[in-house]
Amino acid sequence: MIVDKALHGRVALVTGASRGIGRAIAVALGARGAKVIINYASREDAAREAATEVEAAGGQAVIAGFDVANSSAVTDAIKEHGSLDIVVNNAGVAINGLLMRFSDEQWQKVMMTNLAGAFHCTRAAATFVMKAKDAGRIINITSVVGEMGNGGQAAYAASKAGLIGLTMSTARELSSRGVTCNAIAPGFIETDMTAKELPEAARAKLIEQIPLGRIGRASDVGDAVAFLAGPEAGYITGQVWRVNGGMLM
Ligand code: NAP
Repeated sequence: MIVDKALHGRVALVTGASRGIGRAIAVALGARGAKVIINYASREDAAREAATEVEAAGGQAVIAGFDVANSSAVTDAIKEHGSLDIVVNNAGVAINGLLMRFSDEQWQKVMMTNLAGAFHCTRAAATFVMKAKDAGRIINITSVVGEMGNGGQAAYAASKAGLIGLTMSTARELSSRGVTCNAIAPGFIETDMTAKELPEAARAKLIEQIPLGRIGRASDVGDAVAFLAGPEAGYITGQVWRVNGGMLM
Protein backbone atom coordinates (compact mmCIF):
# COMPACT_ATOMS: atom_id res chain seq x y z
CA MET A 1 0.00 0.00 0.00
CA ILE A 2 1.28 3.53 -0.81
CA VAL A 3 1.34 5.39 2.51
CA ASP A 4 2.69 8.83 1.58
CA LYS A 5 0.21 11.65 2.17
CA ALA A 6 0.08 12.89 -1.43
CA LEU A 7 -3.75 12.98 -1.31
CA HIS A 8 -3.92 15.08 1.85
CA GLY A 9 -6.60 17.76 1.38
CA ARG A 10 -8.22 15.84 -1.50
CA VAL A 11 -11.81 14.63 -1.33
CA ALA A 12 -12.64 11.31 -3.01
CA LEU A 13 -16.03 9.73 -3.65
CA VAL A 14 -15.90 5.93 -3.93
CA THR A 15 -19.18 4.35 -4.95
CA GLY A 16 -19.99 0.94 -3.53
CA ALA A 17 -17.31 1.37 -0.88
CA SER A 18 -19.07 -0.46 1.94
CA ARG A 19 -17.64 -3.83 0.93
CA GLY A 20 -15.16 -5.67 -1.29
CA ILE A 21 -13.09 -3.80 -3.86
CA GLY A 22 -14.69 -0.42 -3.11
CA ARG A 23 -13.81 -0.70 0.56
CA ALA A 24 -10.19 -1.57 -0.31
CA ILE A 25 -10.06 1.43 -2.66
CA ALA A 26 -11.38 3.70 0.10
CA VAL A 27 -8.74 2.39 2.53
CA ALA A 28 -5.93 2.83 -0.02
CA LEU A 29 -7.01 6.42 -0.71
CA GLY A 30 -7.35 7.08 3.02
CA ALA A 31 -3.82 5.77 3.58
CA ARG A 32 -2.60 8.44 1.16
CA GLY A 33 -4.36 11.06 3.30
CA ALA A 34 -7.62 11.62 1.39
CA LYS A 35 -11.01 12.35 2.87
CA VAL A 36 -13.20 9.57 1.48
CA ILE A 37 -16.95 9.67 0.90
CA ILE A 38 -18.02 6.06 1.31
CA ASN A 39 -21.10 5.41 -0.78
CA TYR A 40 -23.30 2.35 -0.22
CA ALA A 41 -26.71 1.13 -1.39
CA SER A 42 -28.26 -0.56 1.65
CA ARG A 43 -25.54 -1.89 3.98
CA GLU A 44 -25.04 1.07 6.31
CA ASP A 45 -23.42 -1.26 8.88
CA ALA A 46 -20.77 -2.29 6.37
CA ALA A 47 -20.24 1.35 5.31
CA ARG A 48 -19.58 2.28 8.96
CA GLU A 49 -17.02 -0.53 9.23
CA ALA A 50 -15.35 0.73 6.05
CA ALA A 51 -15.21 4.26 7.51
CA THR A 52 -13.47 2.91 10.61
CA GLU A 53 -10.90 1.16 8.40
CA VAL A 54 -10.26 4.32 6.38
CA GLU A 55 -9.68 6.30 9.57
CA ALA A 56 -7.38 3.59 10.95
CA ALA A 57 -5.36 3.86 7.71
CA GLY A 58 -4.89 7.59 8.28
CA GLY A 59 -7.68 9.14 6.21
CA GLN A 60 -10.95 10.86 7.02
CA ALA A 61 -14.26 9.23 6.15
CA VAL A 62 -17.94 10.06 5.80
CA ILE A 63 -20.65 7.68 4.66
CA ALA A 64 -23.31 8.47 2.05
CA GLY A 65 -26.13 6.08 1.19
CA PHE A 66 -27.60 6.50 -2.29
CA ASP A 67 -28.44 4.34 -5.27
CA VAL A 68 -26.12 5.20 -8.17
CA ALA A 69 -28.87 4.12 -10.58
CA ASN A 70 -31.04 6.98 -9.33
CA SER A 71 -29.93 10.05 -11.25
CA SER A 72 -31.52 12.68 -9.00
CA ALA A 73 -30.34 10.98 -5.78
CA VAL A 74 -26.78 11.04 -7.17
CA THR A 75 -27.01 14.72 -8.13
CA ASP A 76 -28.39 15.69 -4.70
CA ALA A 77 -25.75 13.70 -2.79
CA ILE A 78 -22.86 15.11 -4.80
CA LYS A 79 -24.14 18.69 -4.51
CA GLU A 80 -24.47 18.25 -0.76
CA HIS A 81 -20.76 17.39 -0.45
CA GLY A 82 -19.65 20.26 -2.67
CA SER A 83 -15.92 19.90 -3.09
CA LEU A 84 -14.77 16.75 -4.87
CA ASP A 85 -11.40 15.99 -6.50
CA ILE A 86 -11.52 12.25 -7.17
CA VAL A 87 -14.41 10.01 -8.23
CA VAL A 88 -14.10 6.24 -8.30
CA ASN A 89 -17.06 4.60 -10.02
CA ASN A 90 -16.92 1.16 -8.45
CA ALA A 91 -20.52 0.27 -7.48
CA GLY A 92 -21.66 -2.75 -9.43
CA VAL A 93 -23.85 -5.82 -9.50
CA ALA A 94 -23.41 -9.11 -11.31
CA ILE A 95 -26.57 -10.93 -12.33
CA ASN A 96 -25.67 -14.07 -14.21
CA GLY A 97 -27.86 -16.05 -16.61
CA LEU A 98 -28.03 -17.26 -20.18
CA LEU A 99 -29.08 -14.41 -22.44
CA MET A 100 -32.04 -16.32 -23.91
CA ARG A 101 -33.54 -16.44 -20.41
CA PHE A 102 -32.42 -13.03 -19.21
CA SER A 103 -35.33 -10.74 -18.32
CA ASP A 104 -35.73 -7.04 -19.20
CA GLU A 105 -35.70 -6.28 -15.47
CA GLN A 106 -32.39 -8.09 -14.98
CA TRP A 107 -30.88 -6.29 -17.98
CA GLN A 108 -32.08 -2.91 -16.68
CA LYS A 109 -30.75 -3.55 -13.19
CA VAL A 110 -27.26 -4.43 -14.41
CA MET A 111 -27.04 -1.60 -16.96
CA MET A 112 -28.52 1.05 -14.65
CA THR A 113 -26.19 0.17 -11.77
CA ASN A 114 -22.94 -0.59 -13.58
CA LEU A 115 -23.04 1.76 -16.56
CA ALA A 116 -25.68 4.46 -15.99
CA GLY A 117 -24.52 4.69 -12.36
CA ALA A 118 -21.02 5.68 -13.46
CA PHE A 119 -22.46 8.14 -15.97
CA HIS A 120 -24.73 9.72 -13.31
CA CYS A 121 -21.83 10.18 -10.88
CA THR A 122 -19.41 11.48 -13.50
CA ARG A 123 -21.92 13.97 -14.87
CA ALA A 124 -22.88 15.27 -11.44
CA ALA A 125 -19.27 15.46 -10.21
CA ALA A 126 -17.64 16.91 -13.35
CA THR A 127 -18.07 20.58 -12.35
CA PHE A 128 -16.39 19.94 -8.98
CA VAL A 129 -13.63 17.70 -10.33
CA MET A 130 -12.77 20.29 -12.99
CA LYS A 131 -12.10 22.80 -10.20
CA ALA A 132 -9.35 20.47 -8.97
CA LYS A 133 -7.69 21.03 -12.38
CA ASP A 134 -4.71 18.70 -12.91
CA ALA A 135 -5.37 16.91 -9.61
CA GLY A 136 -8.86 15.91 -10.82
CA ARG A 137 -9.30 12.17 -11.31
CA ILE A 138 -12.10 9.92 -12.48
CA ILE A 139 -11.50 6.18 -12.26
CA ASN A 140 -13.99 3.58 -13.48
CA ILE A 141 -13.91 -0.04 -12.35
CA THR A 142 -14.62 -2.19 -15.38
CA SER A 143 -13.75 -5.92 -15.65
CA VAL A 144 -11.71 -8.43 -17.60
CA VAL A 145 -15.11 -9.64 -18.82
CA GLY A 146 -15.70 -6.29 -20.55
CA GLU A 147 -12.79 -7.10 -22.84
CA MET A 148 -13.31 -10.87 -23.20
CA GLY A 149 -17.05 -11.48 -22.79
CA ASN A 150 -18.26 -14.41 -20.73
CA GLY A 151 -20.98 -17.02 -21.22
CA GLY A 152 -23.79 -16.29 -18.77
CA GLN A 153 -22.72 -12.68 -18.30
CA ALA A 154 -23.94 -10.85 -21.42
CA ALA A 155 -25.43 -7.90 -19.53
CA TYR A 156 -22.55 -7.66 -17.09
CA ALA A 157 -19.95 -7.81 -19.89
CA ALA A 158 -21.89 -5.26 -21.97
CA SER A 159 -22.08 -2.87 -19.02
CA LYS A 160 -18.34 -3.23 -18.39
CA ALA A 161 -17.46 -2.80 -22.08
CA GLY A 162 -19.67 0.30 -22.07
CA LEU A 163 -17.66 1.68 -19.16
CA ILE A 164 -14.53 1.55 -21.32
CA GLY A 165 -16.19 3.77 -23.94
CA LEU A 166 -17.41 6.10 -21.18
CA THR A 167 -13.86 6.26 -19.80
CA MET A 168 -12.26 7.24 -23.10
CA SER A 169 -14.94 9.81 -23.92
CA THR A 170 -14.71 11.36 -20.45
CA ALA A 171 -10.91 11.46 -20.78
CA ARG A 172 -11.20 13.32 -24.08
CA GLU A 173 -13.84 15.77 -22.81
CA LEU A 174 -12.10 16.68 -19.55
CA SER A 175 -8.47 16.63 -20.66
CA SER A 176 -8.43 20.33 -21.51
CA ARG A 177 -9.00 20.98 -17.77
CA GLY A 178 -6.16 18.68 -16.75
CA VAL A 179 -8.58 16.08 -15.35
CA THR A 180 -7.71 12.46 -16.15
CA CYS A 181 -10.11 9.54 -16.55
CA ASN A 182 -8.96 5.92 -16.58
CA ALA A 183 -10.46 2.49 -16.10
CA ILE A 184 -9.19 -0.44 -14.10
CA ALA A 185 -10.17 -3.90 -15.30
CA PRO A 186 -9.78 -6.40 -12.47
CA GLY A 187 -9.59 -10.11 -13.16
CA PHE A 188 -11.00 -12.50 -10.57
CA ILE A 189 -10.92 -10.85 -7.15
CA GLU A 190 -12.12 -12.53 -3.96
CA THR A 191 -15.13 -10.56 -2.65
CA ASP A 192 -18.80 -11.16 -1.77
CA MET A 193 -19.55 -10.91 -5.52
CA THR A 194 -17.34 -13.88 -6.38
CA ALA A 195 -16.99 -15.85 -3.16
CA LYS A 196 -20.42 -17.43 -3.45
CA GLU A 197 -19.80 -21.17 -3.18
CA LEU A 198 -16.95 -21.53 -5.70
CA PRO A 199 -16.26 -25.30 -5.60
CA GLU A 200 -12.66 -26.30 -4.93
CA ALA A 201 -12.24 -27.88 -8.38
CA ALA A 202 -13.51 -24.72 -10.14
CA ARG A 203 -11.20 -22.63 -8.00
CA ALA A 204 -8.18 -24.76 -8.93
CA LYS A 205 -9.12 -24.56 -12.64
CA LEU A 206 -9.43 -20.80 -12.40
CA ILE A 207 -6.04 -20.44 -10.74
CA GLU A 208 -4.53 -22.48 -13.60
CA GLN A 209 -5.55 -19.67 -15.97
CA ILE A 210 -3.82 -16.99 -13.89
CA PRO A 211 -0.08 -16.77 -14.62
CA LEU A 212 0.65 -15.27 -11.19
CA GLY A 213 -1.00 -18.36 -9.68
CA ARG A 214 -3.44 -16.77 -7.28
CA ILE A 215 -6.86 -15.16 -7.12
CA GLY A 216 -6.68 -11.38 -6.73
CA ARG A 217 -7.14 -9.47 -3.49
CA ALA A 218 -9.31 -6.37 -3.25
CA SER A 219 -6.20 -4.49 -2.11
CA ASP A 220 -4.52 -5.29 -5.47
CA VAL A 221 -7.16 -3.07 -7.07
CA GLY A 222 -7.06 -0.52 -4.24
CA ASP A 223 -3.34 0.01 -4.72
CA ALA A 224 -3.71 0.56 -8.48
CA VAL A 225 -6.47 3.12 -7.87
CA ALA A 226 -4.37 4.91 -5.23
CA PHE A 227 -1.58 5.28 -7.78
CA LEU A 228 -3.87 6.52 -10.58
CA ALA A 229 -5.47 8.98 -8.14
CA GLY A 230 -2.13 10.47 -7.18
CA PRO A 231 0.17 13.11 -8.62
CA GLU A 232 2.47 10.51 -10.25
CA ALA A 233 -0.29 9.55 -12.70
CA GLY A 234 -1.03 13.00 -14.11
CA TYR A 235 0.05 12.06 -17.65
CA ILE A 236 -2.05 8.88 -17.86
CA THR A 237 -5.54 9.26 -19.29
CA GLY A 238 -8.04 7.27 -21.35
CA GLN A 239 -6.34 3.98 -20.43
CA VAL A 240 -7.61 0.62 -19.26
CA TRP A 241 -5.30 -0.88 -16.66
CA ARG A 242 -5.60 -4.64 -16.24
CA VAL A 243 -5.18 -5.87 -12.67
CA ASN A 244 -5.64 -9.56 -13.32
CA GLY A 245 -2.51 -11.55 -12.47
CA GLY A 246 -1.87 -11.94 -16.20
CA MET A 247 -5.19 -13.69 -16.91
CA LEU A 248 -5.62 -11.54 -20.03
CA MET A 249 -2.63 -9.91 -21.69
P1 NAP B 1 -19.42 -6.58 -3.90
O1 NAP B 1 -18.52 -7.23 -2.90
O2 NAP B 1 -20.68 -7.29 -4.30
O3 NAP B 1 -19.76 -5.09 -3.41
C1 NAP B 1 -20.61 -4.31 -4.19
C2 NAP B 1 -20.64 -2.91 -3.63
O4 NAP B 1 -21.44 -2.09 -4.51
C3 NAP B 1 -21.26 -2.82 -2.25
O5 NAP B 1 -20.58 -1.80 -1.54
C4 NAP B 1 -22.71 -2.40 -2.56
O6 NAP B 1 -23.33 -1.65 -1.49
C5 NAP B 1 -22.48 -1.48 -3.74
N1 NAP B 1 -23.65 -1.29 -4.61
C6 NAP B 1 -24.34 -2.22 -5.30
N2 NAP B 1 -25.35 -1.65 -5.97
C7 NAP B 1 -25.30 -0.32 -5.70
C8 NAP B 1 -26.07 0.79 -6.08
N3 NAP B 1 -27.13 0.67 -6.90
N4 NAP B 1 -25.74 2.02 -5.60
C9 NAP B 1 -24.68 2.17 -4.75
N5 NAP B 1 -23.90 1.14 -4.37
C10 NAP B 1 -24.21 -0.08 -4.83
O7 NAP B 1 -18.65 -6.34 -5.29
P2 NAP B 1 -17.07 -6.30 -5.63
O8 NAP B 1 -16.65 -7.66 -6.02
O9 NAP B 1 -16.35 -5.56 -4.58
O10 NAP B 1 -17.11 -5.43 -6.98
C11 NAP B 1 -16.88 -4.04 -7.01
C12 NAP B 1 -16.76 -3.60 -8.46
O11 NAP B 1 -15.67 -4.31 -9.07
C13 NAP B 1 -17.98 -3.90 -9.30
O12 NAP B 1 -18.19 -2.87 -10.23
C14 NAP B 1 -17.59 -5.18 -10.02
O13 NAP B 1 -18.30 -5.32 -11.22
C15 NAP B 1 -16.13 -4.95 -10.25
N6 NAP B 1 -15.36 -6.15 -10.49
C16 NAP B 1 -15.31 -7.15 -9.55
C17 NAP B 1 -14.55 -8.28 -9.81
C18 NAP B 1 -14.43 -9.40 -8.82
O14 NAP B 1 -13.84 -10.43 -9.18
N7 NAP B 1 -14.92 -9.27 -7.61
C19 NAP B 1 -13.86 -8.40 -11.02
C20 NAP B 1 -13.93 -7.39 -11.94
C21 NAP B 1 -14.68 -6.25 -11.67
P3 NAP B 1 -24.11 -2.40 -0.25
O15 NAP B 1 -23.01 -2.91 0.66
O16 NAP B 1 -24.91 -1.32 0.37
O17 NAP B 1 -24.90 -3.51 -0.84
